[in-house]
Amino acid sequence: MTIHRKKQRTPRKPTEKSDLFDGLPDDLVVCILSKLSSSASSPSDFINVLITCKRLNQLGLHQVVLSKAGPRAFAVKAKNWSEYAHRFLKRCVNAGNVEACYILGMIRFYCLQSRGSGASLMAKAAIKSHAPALYSLSVIQFNGSGGSKNDKDLRAGVALCARAAFLGHIDALRELGHCLQDGYGVHRNITEGRRLLVQANARELASVLRMVTLSSPSSRDSRCLLTCHARRHQLQQHHPPITGSGFSLLSDFGCNVPAPEAHPANRFLTEWFGSGCGLLGHGLRLCSHGGCGRPETRPHEFRRCSICNLVNYCSRACQALDWKLRHKAECAPIEQWIDGDGDGDNTDDEGADINA
Ligand SMILES: [Zn+2]
Ligand SMILES: [Zn+2]
Repeated sequence: MTIHRKKQRTPRKPTEKSDLFDGLPDDLVVCILSKLSSSASSPSDFINVLITCKRLNQLGLHQVVLSKAGPRAFAVKAKNWSEYAHRFLKRCVNAGNVEACYILGMIRFYCLQSRGSGASLMAKAAIKSHAPALYSLSVIQFNGSGGSKNDKDLRAGVALCARAAFLGHIDALRELGHCLQDGYGVHRNITEGRRLLVQANARELASVLRMVTLSSPSSRDSRCLLTCHARRHQLQQHHPPITGSGFSLLSDFGCNVPAPEAHPANRFLTEWFGSGCGLLGHGLRLCSHGGCGRPETRPHEFRRCSICNLVNYCSRACQALDWKLRHKAECAPIEQWIDGDGDGDNTDDEGADINA
């Protein structure tokens, strides 16, 4: 930063030669800044360049640079949310950046409760085949979020989810698998549903192994992981988990692998409601899957665990993932023993219960 400032000041001294940086043509600087914005690992990576000097600030806000900015450049912390951050995201949206459309859409829909503009921003990203936006819109349709119970549109939910799944979105694949298994919003097809669930697990395992391999070039860790999975699988053959649909596929792998990295939009939501930046309305709950952060938009919107009745989820995908990562070890039907109500039917929640 200091170096650039010095460089800026240099040409003002008439006795010295002009700075090499000043000699660089604008389009070359824009090209370099575009690479930076697309690969920035945090918003500060990019902001630090913008505040360096007037020229970098001007060129850094060039349409091309803003349109190329990647999701990590937008990973603003909830506590740092400001009018400036909002304006920056809007500028990126106007430059045609789909990630910005999605993240600002999620923030507006869930945190700022500007449902209409949030949903239309997500739709803008979805039209350009942005898989997380397609999946988020499907969750909104399945739950009738922002509206009443009657606004649920299961068929629209399945259609959006199918597009996201086709683009390789793992949660969407898992959600669609469950919908097919249960005949939820789509004609029931247990075999096809099961196939999608296996595919979702395989993709997830592949992405985790890729992550492990990248972080440690030795393949020992990957082998160790696979051995753990194989052992767990053998154990589960003898003690299959309790499931609604009779399949234990979703528990095949999971506990020994790290949770998938949450999208910056989900991290923002989690921080926003977790840190008290935003308050949940009376009687509203957050999705119990730690990596999700979606809040209910009306009481009893989310489905809950039919065994313990203590946790609730925005989607089947969140429930399945949380079951693998955490809830399986905690879930116990204590309430039901006390009540003597062993059937696990939910009485006040709208969502159908599943246990993966
Ligand atoms: Zn969720
Ligand atoms: Zn439970």
